[in-house]
Formats: sequence, structure tokens, C-alpha cells
Amino acid sequence: FDQREGWIWMDGQIIPWAEATLHILSHAMHYGSAVFEGQRAYNGRIFKLEEHTERLFASAAALDMDVPFSREDINSACNTLLQKNGLKDAYCRPILWRGSETMGVSATGTRIHGAIAVWEWPSYFTPEQRLKGLKLDISKWRRPGPDMAPVHAKAAGLYMICTLSRHVAEAKGCDDALMYDYRGQIAEATGANIFFVSDGRLHTPVADCFLDGITRKSVIDLAGQHGIEVMERAIMPDEMPHFEEAFLTGTAAEVSPVAEIGPHSFRPGAITKTLMEEYDRLVRRSD
Ligand code: PMP
Repeated sequence: FDQREGWIWMDGQIIPWAEATLHILSHAMHYGSAVFEGQRAYNGRIFKLEEHTERLFASAAALDMDVPFSREDINSACNTLLQKNGLKDAYCRPILWRGSETMGVSATGTRIHGAIAVWEWPSYFTPEQRLKGLKLDISKWRRPGPDMAPVHAKAAGLYMICTLSRHVAEAKGCDDALMYDYRGQIAEATGANIFFVSDGRLHTPVADCFLDGITRKSVIDLAGQHGIEVMERAIMPDEMPHFEEAFLTGTAAEVSPVAEIGPHSFRPGAITKTLMEEYDRLVRRSD
């Protein structure tokens, strides 16, 4: 991935893709001090760019980072980079990290660096293919509580257990893993939030110890506009047999129906289909 053609924004400069390197003694590499975003452009426009940048700065604040760029710097760099790379349907990854200015756990002497990369990301699957549904493993790793880690930050270090969960899931032939939280409640997948449907209503866990996804919020709004009631509440694993539909939400996942979670099966129905279609319409809307 590091030898592609294209341009990357790094500390205020646009440089060739292959030259966007950093020192091995970067604090982020040793101690996980990096925060990032994942956003998507549809037909040349980054969906909810301001919200993503706001979350990037909130994640940085949660990790004590004093960012030397403004929100406007990041927003305009994302747009400039999309154009410079000639992309319309793309993934955009801004990242902030602590550099190699000092070495040790305390990072007060380090500088905060920033980079943004964009790459082509078309819609790979038709709605019909997606309606087959994802297969999720149930991970043994649990999302930590709000006094155990900065759980609302999109922080690199928090993805360690997501990668481990994904590896086990893939070895079992699953697409992703569902993680419970420190209390044993259903939390989220490794890079997406989860919703269930029963009796015509949506049920989704309260985002009190995991990332409150921007897609999650969009889907809750869309449900409201379509008169679908949304219950944000604690959901226990033993409720899964009673749910009829399940789907994931995320910038990459969009609205993705789930067919299986461990021994439980779900069938994408009217509510999942409506929200898939409405989300597709929303991200491509040009106003
Ligand atoms: N949870 C995790 C752990 C994620 O990585 C993501 C993707 N950013 C999400 C949830 C969904 O967030 P969003 O809808 O903002 O992409």
C-alpha cells in the first residue's frame, strides 16, 4: 500500500505517496498515540466532512493532543487532496500522531503531526449482494469501560482488540466480529455499530463505551423521518433470538445487513431495506 501513485498531505505539504514516511522512534509507534478518521467521498463530495473533522479534534483532545492545525486546514486539505488525486468515490483517512522528538511514556516533549491519504473506494457490492447478509463471530474481547480507556476517541490503540477479533472471525469464515462490552452487553462490531429490529422498532446499544458512529446518527435520523421508533438501550446477548433483523452501520459498512451472529440468524426485512436505500440516497444527495 505504501508504494502507490498519488499524493499525501503531511504536516501541511502535499508530497508523493511513497515519500510519506516517518521515523521508527515515533511515540505513536511505541505507545499507540494516534487518532484518526475514516470518511468517504461520493461523487467528489466527502459525506459529513465537518462532523468527521470535529470528531478527529475531540479524539485528539481525549489523548491530550494540542493540534497545530485548524479544522479548516484539515477540511480544505481533504478536499484539495481528493481533487489532486483525481478521485470521486474515495476513502479519506486523516491521522494525527505524536512524533519522535523525545522517547518515553510521557509525551509532553513530542510534537503532533498530521497526514491525510485518499484512495479509490467504489461501491463493491450491489444492494442484492449485500442483502445476503454478513456473518459475524462473537468475540472474546470486550470493549472497555469509560474509566478504562478513552472509549469515545477514534484512537489507534483501541483497535488492537478489533484486529484480534477480526483474525479469529476470518479464520472461522466470518466477515466480522460482534464485541460485548465490559458489562457483558452488546456493544459493536470491529469497525461498525450494530442495530436490531423487532416488532417494527429499531434497537441499538447506548454509545456509552464505544464510538458513536456518524453513520449511526444518520440512520437514527432517517428512521425518525420514516416514523420508525428507535430504542437506544442496554441490549443483552440473550435477546438475540428475539430479533428479526440486524444490520451494521459505518462509513465503510454503510448499512450492511447481518445474516448470522454466532448461532443466531436474521433475515433482512423491510426496515433494513428502507434504511439501506435511504442511506444510499442521503450520501449521494448534492444539497
Ligand atoms: N465503531 C468503530 C470501532 C469504528 O471503527 C467505526 C468506523 N469509524 C464505527 C463504529 C462507525 O463509525 P462511523 O459511522 O462514524 O464511520
